[in-house]
Amino acid sequence: MTDMTRRSLVGLGMALPLLGQVSWAAPRSPGTPAATGPVRINFNESPWGPSSAARQAMREGIEQCGRYPYDAQYRLIDEFAAQNALQADQVQVFCGSKLALQHAVMAFTGANSLVVPEPSYEAPIEAALSRGTKVHRVALDRQHAHDIQAMLAADQAPGLIYLCNPNNPTGTLTPRRHIERLLANKAKDSVVLVDEAYIHFSDAQSCIDLVKEHPELLVLQTFSKLYGMAGARLGLAIGQASLLQRLEVYDGGNVAAAPTLLGALASLPDRQLVPERNAENARVRDATIAWLNQRGWRCTASQTNCFMIDLRGPGQPVVERLAKEGVLIGRVWPSWPNWVRVSVGNEREMLRFREAFAKVTVS
Ligand code: PLP
Repeated sequence: MTDMTRRSLVGLGMALPLLGQVSWAAPRSPGTPAATGPVRINFNESPWGPSSAARQAMREGIEQCGRYPYDAQYRLIDEFAAQNALQADQVQVFCGSKLALQHAVMAFTGANSLVVPEPSYEAPIEAALSRGTKVHRVALDRQHAHDIQAMLAADQAPGLIYLCNPNNPTGTLTPRRHIERLLANKAKDSVVLVDEAYIHFSDAQSCIDLVKEHPELLVLQTFSKLYGMAGARLGLAIGQASLLQRLEVYDGGNVAAAPTLLGALASLPDRQLVPERNAENARVRDATIAWLNQRGWRCTASQTNCFMIDLRGPGQPVVERLAKEGVLIGRVWPSWPNWVRVSVGNEREMLRFREAFAKVTVS
């Protein structure tokens, strides 16, 4: 059954209750989790979890788990498309944006190569190498932005060029005009994928609006990060319909989980959620980086919920010493062996990080 046939059949059914309404009386983000167990600032997850409205909707979603929730999925697509001035067929839902990324590597590389920044999110590299696809790794520039010129020069006709903006693990931004330059100068059939998993934490403009004029641009976003729903698995792929159809071959019009979809539907219309969480994350991140800088530690200029610290020596032993103190930080990227990634947790978690970091390092 095609996506559109399924959509029209679902349209014949009863409309589900409108769960996308936001309760302004309830706090948008639940309180700080209990201060037990290790501090987990290792996977760029959310210290807040789903918003209060999303939690409520997700509970109601359990009642709907006996049916395939296509109606909720179409409502989510429609809501997201309306918010971003897109057509519904320019948005596709995945059980996590990682899946969309893996499918993009499968769909667009084939005999052609993958070009990636280094260091960056490694899922596309792993997907490419598992299929024997050639990977060109291009070092970030001196500002830790993508080196667009070098990425263009890496291969005359790559299948896929991957950008991560803001970049994981550095948290740094690549100016939009550089991405526009890449789009203007890439080989005709090369697909450009802009992974915006962390865009909501930055004040940068998304590249979503560029898909209208660029048939080979795919943008990915996720509910795992600022929306606090990593455990519920929901990612979106945005591109022209013809490009998304090339992805659909692998996903077969799949549908996400009902609680997940309803949680996302409750989050999207909340106009305060993104700016409030963005500001709180920036406040805690910048205070942590300022504390590190005062003690002589250089950090990346992060615009998201993770940053890297230059330890001026091997990073891995520090990761291990912090773990012994009950603070789990991210790992070391082989190309940057002296740097470690730290995710931004809540205030209490970052205070525990400071105590442990001061204990295990000599500044
Ligand atoms: N893209 C980037 C840059 C990430 O860092 C991650 C997860 O950490 C993902 C995509 C995958 O996110 P998810 O599959 O949870 O949507």
